[in-house]
Amino acid sequence: MHTPPPRRPRPRDPSARVLWRHWLRLTAGHPVELTVHPAWPLTVLTVTWLLGRFVLPSVFPDWSTAAFWLVAAWLAMADSLAGLLHELGHALVAVAHGRRVYCISLYPFAAAARRTSGHDAHEQLLIALAGPASHLLLAAVFWAIWRLLPMDNAPLRVAVGFPAITNLLVGVLNLLPIRPLDGGRALRALLVMGLLPR
Ligand SMILES: [Zn+2]
Repeated sequence: MHTPPPRRPRPRDPSARVLWRHWLRLTAGHPVELTVHPAWPLTVLTVTWLLGRFVLPSVFPDWSTAAFWLVAAWLAMADSLAGLLHELGHALVAVAHGRRVYCISLYPFAAAARRTSGHDAHEQLLIALAGPASHLLLAAVFWAIWRLLPMDNAPLRVAVGFPAITNLLVGVLNLLPIRPLDGGRALRALLVMGLLPR
């Protein structure tokens, strides 16, 4: 009698380790898995500690201790949330064009999404631009809030103004026409569409 060979265990994918998972419903049909890598909280805590212990006290020595830690924790979180919104931007446009988005993962200093790929250059252009656009939109929102803040509340102005600047910079950098940046993907789609000379 033929016995099937024992199944080899699948090699462990380090990126598959998950601390927390949640199902997002971007559309009625297919839920998108949102996962957080186990190293993410440690990274946020480390960035908070570096900002709250060293960077903010040396730049703003007259702030209170509570202000150092609150602003530091917020800035560390805001950076991750911007990364998540970037991937959600890609995902929403992809889903709107009938693509399947399986998973959005939050890693230390980055976020990533797994989705089906397509061959339509117009779609690829819109999906690529949605990531940087989310940073530029976020920068505009923070800037609009920053303009309304009282001049004498420095911690609040830094907490809102700093993410405005970083999101503007990240959004513009992401638009550079270099692979693997989103600008590089957008440029390739434009070339395929024949809108730019090859
Ligand atoms: Zn992107």
